[in-house]
Amino acid sequence: MTARVLDGVATAATVKDELRARVEALRGLGAAPGLATLLVGDDPASRSYVAGKHRDCLEVGIASIEVELPATATQTDVRAAIRDLNAAREVTGLVVQLPLPTRIDAEAMLEEVDPAKDADGLHPTNLGRLVLGVDGAIDAPLPCTPSACVELLARHGVPLAGADVCVIGRGLTVGRSIGLLLTRRGVDATVTLTHSRTPDLAAHVRRADVVVAAVGSRHLVRPDWIAPGAAVLDVGITRERMLANGRARLAGDVHPGVADVAGWLSPVPGGVGPMTRVMLLDNVVRAAERAAR
Ligand code: NAP
Repeated sequence: MTARVLDGVATAATVKDELRARVEALRGLGAAPGLATLLVGDDPASRSYVAGKHRDCLEVGIASIEVELPATATQTDVRAAIRDLNAAREVTGLVVQLPLPTRIDAEAMLEEVDPAKDADGLHPTNLGRLVLGVDGAIDAPLPCTPSACVELLARHGVPLAGADVCVIGRGLTVGRSIGLLLTRRGVDATVTLTHSRTPDLAAHVRRADVVVAAVGSRHLVRPDWIAPGAAVLDVGITRERMLANGRARLAGDVHPGVADVAGWLSPVPGGVGPMTRVMLLDNVVRAAERAAR
């Protein structure tokens, strides 16, 4: 068997087309969406992530607001910048780019963001709403990578109702919250959350119809762990050697041999990554739609 590709690039392009139409409609109402980023200091990787977010915004017509503070900025300066962006009408989504300088309390700064404008969907208020929202529509920003995984599966017709899902990794950006989305009424998956202290991890993975590997350990998930025909989402990323273009070669958590056993597999790169970026845009547009109502 050769697994079918859970194609994040093509799916993200479709979602971007839909977002363009939604942005156009908002513009007609005088409620255009805007993403603000706050960058503190001059870390090249952070600068490049921020630039990528604004390129994505440009593609779908979301306005970009870029705020930068010097590496010498105090916590008071950062808090003031966040409060200004919380109050700005043209800002419907806000990202405080991490890492912040070590003397600044990053957790406290992230909590300072207005939950309604939380583009990453990781504000404690929004995670709390997700815990409470087992039923019906969730009218709050969603964590981008978990919602990217669910969207990628749904748009490829991979059934989740009644499916056994094994999530590997209990990290904050993926594993910790994805079960909350997958076990909602209407999605109806059954989820096992595993981590580095789970005995016999392979046995848990073998029982799964859907595997979400979110660790950051190169090729951890072996072909003999996978039930034939299972859908496998490779979320984890390990940066390998540098390529001639200055970019790092990326490896996923899933061994390439899994493609011979699985029914579906998301590639690295080109799987969950592009979908995560597009779900951030979705949070920004949904916030503008909420504000317009
Ligand atoms: P994290 O906070 O570092 O969590 C990693 C988790 O993996 C931890 O819960 C850890 O368990 C677990 N783990 C480590 N070794 C393990 C092993 N041998 N067996 C089972 N579990 C093991 O990471 P995260 O923020 O959730 O992100 C996870 C990965 O996804 C990272 O590689 C990140 O770069 C990637 N990611 C990708 C995207 C994307 O767009 N593609 C987006 C977000 C994150 P313990 O808790 O027991 O230590």
